[in-house]
Amino acid sequence: MIQLNRLLIPFLFFFAFRLAFQIALDLLNISFLRRHSHTVPRPFQGVVDGEKFSEIASYTQDSTRFGILARLFDQAVLLAILLTGVLPWLVDRINGWDAGFIGGGLIFFAILAIFSSLLDIPFDLYSTFVIEQRYGFNTRTIGLWFSDWAKGMLISAILGGIVLVVLLVLVSYFEATWWILAWVIISIFELVILWLYPVLIAPLFNRFEPIADKELAQRITSLMERAGLAVKGVFQMDAGKRSKHTNAYFTGLGKSKRIVLFDTLLASHPEQEILSVLAHEAGHWKRKHVIKQLIVLEAFSFAGLFIISVMLDWELLYRTFGFDEQIRYVGLLLAPVVLSPLIYFLRPLGSALSRKYEKEADDMAVSLMGTPEPVRDTLIRISADNLANLVPHPIYAWFNYSHPPPVERIERLEAMREGDPRNVREQVSGS
Ligand SMILES: [Zn+2]
Repeated sequence: MIQLNRLLIPFLFFFAFRLAFQIALDLLNISFLRRHSHTVPRPFQGVVDGEKFSEIASYTQDSTRFGILARLFDQAVLLAILLTGVLPWLVDRINGWDAGFIGGGLIFFAILAIFSSLLDIPFDLYSTFVIEQRYGFNTRTIGLWFSDWAKGMLISAILGGIVLVVLLVLVSYFEATWWILAWVIISIFELVILWLYPVLIAPLFNRFEPIADKELAQRITSLMERAGLAVKGVFQMDAGKRSKHTNAYFTGLGKSKRIVLFDTLLASHPEQEILSVLAHEAGHWKRKHVIKQLIVLEAFSFAGLFIISVMLDWELLYRTFGFDEQIRYVGLLLAPVVLSPLIYFLRPLGSALSRKYEKEADDMAVSLMGTPEPVRDTLIRISADNLANLVPHPIYAWFNYSHPPPVERIERLEAMREGDPRNVREQVSGS
């Protein structure tokens, strides 16, 4: 059965280490917040009062505590699945059905995926209907939640099924080179999905209409022309039927770029601020951040697939988790699971790169708007409306944040306004 050996011991060590590290970082962040909860940070004074500030603190605490609980549960289930011998038992049953390698692999992953999404349901419900509800964000009905869930399951079954069939076919027919072929095919598939997402998948969940305010649409188009971007359309999305959180995004590839504005954002921001949000998004496109991040991600997935391909032929991987035979579809599950505690520690690299891009996009927004004021005002309003934590612990933010913390971003914009020569230079090079 399961043996405590030179693979399982380091795996369990890193598994426990990651979990303890994640929880310690969460707790550190909460206690830092509590220690700084007496004074509202300067840029937010006058906008966020004492009451709002303590609401932000309790929203952060509630979501963090719930996150810790969900993670502990999730990791306990994973460990139980790996160590109780339930996987070899399951594979034995599947072998009895004579479905072949590809059929067997599909059944194996389908059972695990269904099991894990059923376990997620109570957590998703609690987060939506208790936490988000408590802070006045949730606007979803139970009916809408269920239809979202059903559609989400169907889409993951189709997309996940396609990727899985490709992997299983390649693994069974190309012993040594499967991972290179898989990398090429899956990368192309991802690009196709990125291209089709706005026209095929997003409309299943939301209604998209050209924005009603024609004058605003005209101003947006001329802003995009100034940025040198060809845009197919400016749409508003009925995000308010799910949540009051506000946002906007660019979507599509190449010439099919679309701008999508949440109706919640349109309702709560004055025009100059809406334009600054879009100027920031335009900055991401202009600086090719999406493509650059995609390239980095593809490089990591190339390395990851190579490592998995080596591990697939490693007899110890199977024996460690109670398998007598080397069934390669089982390896496709075990290898990433064993690697994941290590992969987690690469996160600060991704966060740092993303924060660098956010600064570049802010710079671009300032030069497109001609002044930092609306960009700063937008950030203040978005942070306050969405109850963003205004005092994250620096290590927590360094590890996890894809955006610089709000106060840091705002102070940077204010320094531009005050004509700090260092920032003016950045501003010029950012345009
Ligand atoms: Zn951004």
